[in-house]
Amino acid sequence: MTAWVDLRSDTVTQPTAAMREAGLRAPVGDDVFGDDPSVNSLQDRLAGDLGFEAGLFLPSGTQSNLLALMAHCERGDEYLVGMDAHTYKYEGGGAAVLGSIQPQPIVHAVDGTLPLDAVRAAIKPVGDPHFARTRLLALENTWHGRPLPHAYLAAAGALAREHGLAYHLDGARLYNAAVADGVPAREIARHFDSVSVCLSKGLGAPVGSVLVGPAALIDKARRWRKVLGGGWRQAGILAAMAQHALDHHVLRLADDHRRAAELAAALRSLPGLVVEGAFTNLVFVTVPAGREAALATHLAEAGIRIAAGRGPRLRLVTHLDVDDAGLARTIAGFRGFFG
Ligand SMILES: *Cc1c(COP(=O)(O)O)cnc(C)c1O
Repeated sequence: MTAWVDLRSDTVTQPTAAMREAGLRAPVGDDVFGDDPSVNSLQDRLAGDLGFEAGLFLPSGTQSNLLALMAHCERGDEYLVGMDAHTYKYEGGGAAVLGSIQPQPIVHAVDGTLPLDAVRAAIKPVGDPHFARTRLLALENTWHGRPLPHAYLAAAGALAREHGLAYHLDGARLYNAAVADGVPAREIARHFDSVSVCLSKGLGAPVGSVLVGPAALIDKARRWRKVLGGGWRQAGILAAMAQHALDHHVLRLADDHRRAAELAAALRSLPGLVVEGAFTNLVFVTVPAGREAALATHLAEAGIRIAAGRGPRLRLVTHLDVDDAGLARTIAGFRGFFG
């Protein structure tokens, strides 16, 4: 059988031959000494592209967000964050566990924004020892595949500044948002004090995220990275592959978005399915309760992998390794089961 069509995540991509070549050719050095030219070039390039002073190359988005929180906040501080945000719900409680930083979750509106009156109401009175010190507002873009409105990013930023809060973006899929919005990524990034970007999602690099921000903040993050055991050495092999992804895989995200939209449209025409999105590369589809396991088995027999086991609302993700033939196979697989 031909290769799997793997819709579980955009993290499953195989590095392309050209990307592997870029890794093999990379000049490297000891990054703990700041000596790795490929790491330095990636960090400088992404900081420059996004309009920040400095960048830090890291093994994961989870570490990138954690270091941002630990660099912005001290022990006993608090960050405001979405109730379902990755930086709150899916990072093992790292900010609290490792940073002694208290999360204050906020319930999202349907479009993924955090309503500003709820944000304002959650900011604690200054100087009262009953409360943690509110220090930071964190957003996520794209939000479940949906780009946040630019006017909202500006308004939330103004609120943060008014209250002396830092403003962080979990931009794991920042480039998906930028491509969908038809703007350079810095148009989104410019609202924030720091931004974390994943290179190992839709951009297709094997490993890595970059945190960008002011130089002093990045210095603090670099120190915490070492403390957490994240100082790495000849990481330039990975950095060069990530740089290749930035050079060659940004504009093609539009293909992933088109395929997700085609998949959503095809699934919408099937009886019993409720389809949300697709704004970028994520399609959410709710199947009749109890049928997800049988669907997963049916699709697996056709060489299609989905992430089942978290209930009837499935997330299907398009990426570099899902081409038009894979899309057609997926649609046929769903039609065979539901049609
Ligand atoms: C994937 C992801 C991260 C970080 O993920 P890692 O797997 O740690 O690299 C952070 N935020 C969001 C929204 C993500 O999708």
